[in-house]
Amino acid sequence: MKEITSNINIIGGGLIGAITAYSLSKLDFKITILEKNDQFNPKKHKDYRTIAISEGTKTFLEKLNLWSDIRSFAEPIKRIKVIDRKLSNFLEFDNKRRKSNLGYIVKNTDLLYILYKKLKNNRNVLILNNSQPESFRIYKDTIVTNLNNCSVVSDINVAADGKKSFVRKKLKTPIFVKNYNKSAFVTTFTHSKSHLSTAFEFFYKNGPLAILPMQELDNNFRSSIVWTNNRDYLEKLFDIDNKSLQLILGKETRGSVGKINKIVTKQLFPLSAHLSSSFYENRTIYIGDAAHSFHPIAGQGWNLGMKGVENLFNLAKKYKSIGIELGNNSFCKEYHNENYYSAYRLYQLTDKLDSIFTNQNFFISLCRSFGLELFQKNKKINNLISDFAMGIN
Ligand SMILES: Cc1cc2nc3c(=O)[nH]c(=O)nc-3n(C[C@H](O)[C@H](O)[C@H](O)COP(=O)(O)OP(=O)(O)OC[C@H]3O[C@@H](n4cnc5c(N)ncnc54)[C@H](O)[C@@H]3O)c2cc1C
Repeated sequence: MKEITSNINIIGGGLIGAITAYSLSKLDFKITILEKNDQFNPKKHKDYRTIAISEGTKTFLEKLNLWSDIRSFAEPIKRIKVIDRKLSNFLEFDNKRRKSNLGYIVKNTDLLYILYKKLKNNRNVLILNNSQPESFRIYKDTIVTNLNNCSVVSDINVAADGKKSFVRKKLKTPIFVKNYNKSAFVTTFTHSKSHLSTAFEFFYKNGPLAILPMQELDNNFRSSIVWTNNRDYLEKLFDIDNKSLQLILGKETRGSVGKINKIVTKQLFPLSAHLSSSFYENRTIYIGDAAHSFHPIAGQGWNLGMKGVENLFNLAKKYKSIGIELGNNSFCKEYHNENYYSAYRLYQLTDKLDSIFTNQNFFISLCRSFGLELFQKNKKINNLISDFAMGIN
């Protein structure tokens, strides 16, 4: 059987796996990526989501020399408006204090396309499409990954194979799971009024509805919606004709971007959160959604995955400089220690935010309205929240 050797073997070539490969290749490691799909053909890719890139992530992308390619596809967020039930209960954040944007909206497929182009021409990276691992074996100071037609021998495996991680199941790493019994309806659409680079978040009783500003398309104003609601309701909404959908979305978005002119794409995602009990096991580390996933209420899941990529990059650089191979126990443990707590904290935060804003108890709604007013008036709290949105805290 053919044997391929590399320093780092990445399983999963999604948004996190691809950036992990790109960043570590800059440190001159030999890298393999196993991707179960034919990922490197963007036309076949069926992810219609957008990502809100935080200012913190952007700084790391700049360091990797990736931001100059991403910038032309990204719409800046200059303002965020949070509205609780009634239009009179709202909070507004802007970018004036730090003289930078609050984030950037990019289509997932645009981001993947840029990364694939970079990886294809990278002499340190070997991409194996339509490939998935079958089993793993520790052999001396290496991990051997067996595929159906070859094996990859490496110092370390990086599992970036998403929420349902095959690697995690195979290595029997326990996870904590929270099922929200809700879904997220994601749609991109054109509309009559400019969004003026504003992101809106409406907190309705069944879940939040976010409008994320996108770049214009053929001179049409364009945005994306992420609407969390009861699963049954969203499944029905998904099946109705586009004209009726436009009317419903027009009502729910309260005229903030004018009339909904055309639905461009729509997709449904069942919602759950999870946290792997450990971020490493047997010369393998978990990264991105393979390690954690969250309620999308704060749009921070991928950004936290990117913080994991940055921490991994810095740690790999440190170990390389002192000549210790990646994959040994102290490397994996250090990676876990640097990333686990922030994932646990983000899980707690997003989970509590969801329950505070969906709670219909009279006392809690009163505290919520009072809280929003307090946040709006108190500059310190307002600044703390906008720093969180920017990925600075
Ligand atoms: C509705 C919604 C909106 C969101 N919005 C935001 C946002 O605005 N900002 C933000 O920060 N985050 C957001 N997130 C979270 C974000 O989308 C995810 O955190 C991110 O996409 C995870 O990327 P990943 O590469 O870890 O996983 P994935 O994108 O799932 O990639 C996993 C890859 O591994 C491959 N794979 C799977 N199994 C195998 C196998 N056995 N062998 C080989 N390859 C395999 C898959 O084909 C895929 O390419 C949102 C999530 C949802 C549900």
